[in-house]
Amino acid sequence: MTALGLRLPTGKLLELPAALGRVNRACSTFQTFAEVLRLPTRQMTKLAFPLQELQRQLTPDSRLDLHVKTFDPSLEDISKAESVFTATGRNCIEYLSSAVRLDHAPDLPHPEVCFIGRSNVGKSSLIKALFSLAPEVEVRVSKKPGHTKKMNFFKVGKYFTLVDMPGYGYRAPEDFVDMVETYLKERRNLMRTFLLVDSVVGIQKTDSIAIGMCEEFALPYVMVLTKIDKSSRGHLLKQVLQIQKFVDTETQGCFPQLFPVSSVTYSGIHLLRCFIANITGNLKTNGL
Ligand code: GDP
Repeated sequence: MTALGLRLPTGKLLELPAALGRVNRACSTFQTFAEVLRLPTRQMTKLAFPLQELQRQLTPDSRLDLHVKTFDPSLEDISKAESVFTATGRNCIEYLSSAVRLDHAPDLPHPEVCFIGRSNVGKSSLIKALFSLAPEVEVRVSKKPGHTKKMNFFKVGKYFTLVDMPGYGYRAPEDFVDMVETYLKERRNLMRTFLLVDSVVGIQKTDSIAIGMCEEFALPYVMVLTKIDKSSRGHLLKQVLQIQKFVDTETQGCFPQLFPVSSVTYSGIHLLRCFIANITGNLKTNGL
């Protein structure tokens, strides 16, 4: 296949498969990183590294460290990570099964990551965005009140398993907390928990349930800030600074760098894919 060349800011030439080069810009949604790379630098940085963009807006005297360099992969690494999330004949990405109890969960040898957050935080939208290059994958949503809440397991080829944990809220029944707690405490191959917080409203009381669990079980977890397209830049910056301060001062197991994302604009999605590929051992980068 003929390759297209794209000049990176480092001066290096990044080769793109011809098929990616043909994506029609008119219907572009920036689902692929090749589309992002074709944007003017400023716009590209905003989509690829939204936290760096926010950090730039801080005046030097008010500059709280947003740890933007803690995970700082190259554009090539982000491009490479995309193949992990791209469904092909050799990379089968599929919904596997659901479980209400840990002993019903599939027993898989791969590293696992789980996504947890209160109802309406944007969890299904985020998982759909991460899997947008595997359009056959059906992200199941059970939102009907009284409907049994389940853990949904997705197999990402030979690379890793992604678990969509049930959303929690004020009315989360006790057996639900037990299910999540047992999973977090006992799942042996769980590599990282992604805890979603709505960037519009910041950390809520209900979020503290999940934060408390991760801290209590000394789990490594990461805070993902959803819906960043919904707020003005000023409001978003205020929320990010508050959450960063919380992470720096109140948590032990939380990864210091926040991951702001939008499932609508795809801002931050490519970086998050790269981070997941990296921590599941599927991409060696200098980023960590
Ligand atoms: P879940 O209950 O956590 O799975 O949340 P959903 O993914 O169903 O999202 C809840 C609502 O927020 C829906 O109306 C989504 O369309 C909306 N939403 C989710 N993510 C985003 C986002 O990144 N940007 C915007 N503007 N809306 C979002």
